[in-house]
Amino acid sequence: MNDALPTDPLAVHRTLLTIDTHIDIPWPTGPDPFTQTSRKVDLPKMRRGGLAAGCFAAYVPQATRTAENTQAAFIRAVGMLEAIRGMARTQAGITARLTTTAAEIEAAKRDDVLAIIPAVENGFAIGEEPARLSQLRALGARYLTITHTGHNALADSANPRQDLGDAPTLHGGLSHLGRAAITELNRLGMLVDVSHASRDSMLQAAQCSRTPVVATHSCIRALCDHPRNLDNEQLDALRDVGGVVQVTAVAAFLKPNAKPEEVTVADFANHIDFAVRRIGVEHVGISSDFDGGGWFSGWSDVSESPNITAELMRRGYGPAELALLWGGNFLRLLRRAEEVAE
Ligand SMILES: [Zn+2]
Repeated sequence: MNDALPTDPLAVHRTLLTIDTHIDIPWPTGPDPFTQTSRKVDLPKMRRGGLAAGCFAAYVPQATRTAENTQAAFIRAVGMLEAIRGMARTQAGITARLTTTAAEIEAAKRDDVLAIIPAVENGFAIGEEPARLSQLRALGARYLTITHTGHNALADSANPRQDLGDAPTLHGGLSHLGRAAITELNRLGMLVDVSHASRDSMLQAAQCSRTPVVATHSCIRALCDHPRNLDNEQLDALRDVGGVVQVTAVAAFLKPNAKPEEVTVADFANHIDFAVRRIGVEHVGISSDFDGGGWFSGWSDVSESPNITAELMRRGYGPAELALLWGGNFLRLLRRAEEVAE
């Protein structure tokens, strides 16, 4: 017998190139990521949990769209990207490596070092200047989440901010500037992240982008009616353009009004199953939104990541499908974006 596949979930899990496509970092100060912390993600827990790679987000909160706030947002995004780059070092017996291409992420897995993938959350970071994207890309950012909570100059958000004066819609989806930003993202090889975007923004972005778009941390609206989730038409649109939904660990997106303690790995896997049945295993992935609100019972921090693999194996997913869900699909999108980039 030379074709025996491992059946121990932990053994299977450790063979996979696992990528979590959305993790937040502490800002402006926080504990050393190489030490054991009380956060959901630190590098010792990442190793223990067999998470090979993480997209770490330079998250910019939405604020009133003044020139002053916009400038501050850009400065913050740059500072956070520099902090994320600073995680790439060797300390206390752990090596983390900055990886900004699909090939580099694969090499890090081969070399058994942790892969750090920078990203930027909220197009507010570039204000009204798509040219600023090249500076974020130069710092390693591989995706831009078009909006966060609240409309920005690029697009409408799924969650308008009444406290900032938002009406239900501002642009009716993408603005002219938002389309220009997507053209620039395509040129630079950065992915277009449609999580947080309004339904119209998301559908328009899927059509406008020359590369498949990704929802880096969203769930399934048919199972939990939350504005941050994707409905069936949006899932179909993702499939049609070759994109991916990265089902995420936010309790309120998984079960209506649920607290994290009330949500289980089975609930999470239900969202994976639904998406796989509707649009195919090539269009579904996994993310946590750890340290940004994501966690539930059974995946309360990154060290428990093998529980996800174990549940999916119980449901009949084999090694090839697990590899796609845990990062293969996202890598395909990164690689496609690299091919299309100038
Ligand atoms: Zn988010």
